[in-house]
Formats: sequence, C-alpha cells, structure tokens
Amino acid sequence: MQVSIACTEQNLRSRSSEDRLCGPRPGPGGGNGGTTGAGHGNPPGGGGSGPKARAALVLRPPAPAGALRESTGRGTGMKYRNLGKSGLRVSCLGLGTWVTFGSQISDETAEDVLTVAYEHGVNLFDTAEVYAAGKAERTLGNILKSKGWRRSSYVITTKIFWGGQAETERGLSRKHIIEGLRGSLERLQLGYVDIVFANRSDPNCPMEEIVRAMTYVINQGLALYWGTSRWGAAEIMEAYSMARQFNLIPPVCEQAEHHLFQREKVEMQLPELYHKIGVGSVTWYPLPCGLITSKYDGRVPDTCRASIKGYQWLKDKVQSEDGKKQQAKVMDLLPVAHQLGCTVAQLAIAWCLRSEGVSSVLLGVSSAEQLIEHLGALQVLSQLTPQTVMEIDGLLGNKPHSKK
Ligand code: NAP
Repeated sequence: MQVSIACTEQNLRSRSSEDRLCGPRPGPGGGNGGTTGAGHGNPPGGGGSGPKARAALVLRPPAPAGALRESTGRGTGMKYRNLGKSGLRVSCLGLGTWVTFGSQISDETAEDVLTVAYEHGVNLFDTAEVYAAGKAERTLGNILKSKGWRRSSYVITTKIFWGGQAETERGLSRKHIIEGLRGSLERLQLGYVDIVFANRSDPNCPMEEIVRAMTYVINQGLALYWGTSRWGAAEIMEAYSMARQFNLIPPVCEQAEHHLFQREKVEMQLPELYHKIGVGSVTWYPLPCGLITSKYDGRVPDTCRASIKGYQWLKDKVQSEDGKKQQAKVMDLLPVAHQLGCTVAQLAIAWCLRSEGVSSVLLGVSSAEQLIEHLGALQVLSQLTPQTVMEIDGLLGNKPHSKK
C-alpha cells in the first residue's frame, strides 16, 4: 500500500531538519546513547539550542536513511534503539503484561519476571487500561513501587480505549483519553506514563479531537509521548498532518502485530511512515500466544494460555486448519533454529527485530524461564544473515511484495 502524504512541503522540510537533530551523537561511553531528543513536542525553532549549536547541527551529515542507531547496554548485552525518530531510547525487547499480569500468573511470578527483565536491561514495560480490567496496571504499579527503581530508568506505556462499561468509558473522546489516562496513572501509582497509546482507531471520534486530547495530556505532564495501536497507515498519516497543521503533537510510533505469519503492515507500510514522518513501530505478538514454539504438537497443554478460562478462541485457533498449517511451518523452521543453535521462539523473536523501523518487540511470558530464553534472541539477531532470512522466507512462502 502506498501512503498518501497529506502534509505540506514546508512540514516535510521542517521534519527533515528535526530528523537531522536525531542524528548520531556519541554518548559518554563512546556508544550512540545520550541523545537528548529533539522531542516531537518542541515549539517550532525551540529546543534550547542557540544559533551556534544550530549551525553545528545543520553541518552534521544526515543519519543514513532507515538506520536505527543501536547501542548495547554494558553488562547486559541489551540493545537500545530510538523510539521512531524521537530521542527516547528503548530496549529492543520490551515486556508486555497482557493476559499474564493480573490474570494468568501470580503476583510473585510477575515480580520475578519484571525483575529478571529489568536486570537484563529491558527498560520498556507495556500495559493497558483494559488488561485484566485494570488489574495488570495495578500489579505492575505495585511491583514498581516495591522495587524502588529510579523512575527515569524505565519506560512505561499504557493504552487507552476500553475503560469500562459505560458509553463514555470507551473510545478516544477527549473525555475518555483524559479520564482513562488518569485512571491508569492511579492504578500504576505513577505521576506520568512515558507513552500513551490510542488502543485502536475510533471512527466515532473526529481525528482533531484525538490529536488535541493527546497534546493536552502531554502538555499537562500526564504522558511524555503518544502513539497509536492497530491504526492504518492512512489514519496515522492523518493524525500527523493534523498535528502539523494545528501545531499539535504528532504520534511517535505505532504498536502493530508482527510475526512470522503476519507481515504486510510492519514490513510494507510502516517503513514508509518511519522514513517520511518518523513514526516507528513497537511490535507485539511475536509468538502469537505461544503458537510459534514447538509446544503445540497437535495438542494443547493444560498449563498454557490456550487452556485458561476465557481463551477458548485461542484453543480453537490452535486446533483450526490454519493453526495446524502454521504449526507445520514452525516444525519446518526447527532445522534452521538448530543450525543457529537456538530455539524456534528465539529465532522468531530475532526475526521480528530485524525489520526496518522496529524500535522494540514486546514479549509476553508466563515465567521467568521463558523470558530468559527470549533474551537469548539478541545473540541470534547477529547471526541472521541475508541468506538465513532468505531461507526462512522460502520456508514460510509469505514474503510480502511491494505493489508499486
Ligand atoms: P506472545 O509472544 O504472542 O505470546 C506470549 C505467550 O506465549 C506467553 O504468555 C506464553 O504463554 C507463551 N510462550 C512464550 N514464550 C514461550 C516459550 N519459550 N515456550 C512456550 N511458550 C511460550 O506475546 P503476547 O503476550 O501475546 O504479546 C506481547 C505483548 O504485546 C502483550 O503482553 C501486550 O503488552 C502487547 N500486545 C499489544 C496489543 C495491542 O493491541 N497493541 C495486542 C496484543 C499484545 P503460555 O506459557 O501460557 O502458553
């Protein structure tokens, strides 16, 4: 799909000078960290740099197209990337709380998982007002409070759309964005979240109202950035254009489904948005609820997500014809994983990380052991040669092609 650019030449020109501000800056350790972030919310011409500094920045060559400047955490080996073309540095593996926190796993296991993640350099934790009807946010908030980690050392993202039963407790109206986010902050026991996502698009709400409400919550200090989740490329473009037209704050990234069996949007549509307007991707569902592990060998184990109450749809999916075909493909990938000395889950996660414009892949785990296994995907990433990627494409037979 080609994204139509509904913004002015001038907007694009001012954007590309912003992009240049996000160019490589050697950090204190000689890496690429330490960006101060030419935040998307800065007033035009603002950002605190004097004429001298600005001249120096202009002289610096622009960043190579599409390059996400990656740095590696000392001691943990975690990789960090910019969130879209903002200055926010996020771990390329993030931890999600859907199904697990507040419903599937105990609070003790949730604490173990979060501790292992943080100690291994994961700094991005994702939740939503709808997860376990708010209990996931509460569990995450309790753990963060008891751990006492510096607030500046991690990034919390939440998503707003489904807040409650009342008509006014759903959607992306100004009312629900503001009240929903305040509710999330109360459950998280935090003064602000780093990123608030619009958890789907809302055909019942004018785009201008959504962008204005997101700008408001950022200007009030309730969130630092905003993003979209499950939005179409054209909708994201509309939000961006609206923000530029009215001097509001544009979204910084899209949360999108991406895995071996769902490729089109993240591989074909979002890279164009990343290059043109700096909107990056945070992807979710790398193992579609555990489908891309070798554990479903024709049956559904009693102890997994597909067996819990309320997840019959997942069990049906696993046992459907499509599900069986996908499991057969997963088995086809086993020799590739063996060749690389990794598990198929590690291979699938590393494969997601190689996609252009992907800032972070959100993991879901029901134990610390699963998380430790997934963190091993970082080593696999460096072994994913173009030949291996081609071999995987050949086995999957679903590589999306540009229609241009
Ligand atoms: P996922 O990677 O698709 O599935 C995770 C589940 O797979 C685990 O809970 C575990 O369940 C199973 N699993 C994981 N590792 C395994 C292993 N090594 N061996 C066997 N089974 C394994 O992740 P997800 O939780 O569905 O999604 C990740 C995060 O993305 C969510 O937590 C959420 O924050 C975010 N998300 C966002 C959206 C959105 O609309 N923006 C939608 C969905 C998710 P069992 O052990 O119970 O089988």
